Amino acid sequence: MDSDIVMVDDKGKRVDGREANDLRPMKIEAGVLPNADGSAYLEIGKNKVLAAVYGPRECHPRHLQDPTKAIVQCKYNMQSYSVSDRKRPGPDRRSAEISKIISEALESVILTELFPRASIDVYIEIMQANAGTRCAGLTAASVALADAGMPMRDLVPSVAVGKADGKLLLDLNKEEDNFGEADLPLAIIPKTDEVVLLQMDGHMTKEEFDSAMKTGVAACHEIYEMQKDALRRRYSVGEEEEVEE
Ligand code: ADP
Repeated sequence: MDSDIVMVDDKGKRVDGREANDLRPMKIEAGVLPNADGSAYLEIGKNKVLAAVYGPRECHPRHLQDPTKAIVQCKYNMQSYSVSDRKRPGPDRRSAEISKIISEALESVILTELFPRASIDVYIEIMQANAGTRCAGLTAASVALADAGMPMRDLVPSVAVGKADGKLLLDLNKEEDNFGEADLPLAIIPKTDEVVLLQMDGHMTKEEFDSAMKTGVAACHEIYEMQKDALRRRYSVGEEEEVEE
């Protein structure tokens, strides 16, 4: 890390004015794509993410079918215009990895055994990226699944806790992610606090890890409330809006 770069000032304020345990401003809207079975749009800070769900439907390719349960196929994609230096379009190792971990996290909450041989397809499009997109994508995807009426044990809120300037910081933005020392994306099932996604980039001490987990789990519960609120707003449309639709 470049020691000349200050990520947290003397008053404990971060580069974007947040305190250590503040999330970036967040907005979630459910049911934004009428063609999809379920969908959600999410913003957290400068991240802008769209999630669309199709299924359960016939699984393609067919050799992937599981006679005992549905499979969850997630496609995470970062648009080339989502970052200032133009991302090379198309699949790459990073998007394959993120698609895999998000599929696994979602598989742990969806009652897949109800839909043998089927596929539940989840598309995550990152339209603007500013660090934390895997967490934003998973948070949006679980709202989209609920919007699709998918039988699930719970929603899956997700956030990263990082370390920059030697301090633990919730929900790193791009500058903090670039110059920080560690990043720990996690996702939980809020009803049980079961961890369904946990990765670590960089180094933390055992004490820092424990503290980061506590902060992250608490923040996931905050995000959970926003997810539920988005679904409540989606299904409590006023009469006027209903007529318009
Ligand atoms: P996450 O978005 O989950 O934090 P990473 O830690 O891999 O995932 O990426 C951090 C950030 O780096 C992304 O949110 C994005 O802003 C930027 N980034 C990732 N991949 C690219 C790329 N190929 N080109 C430009 N920027 C990228």
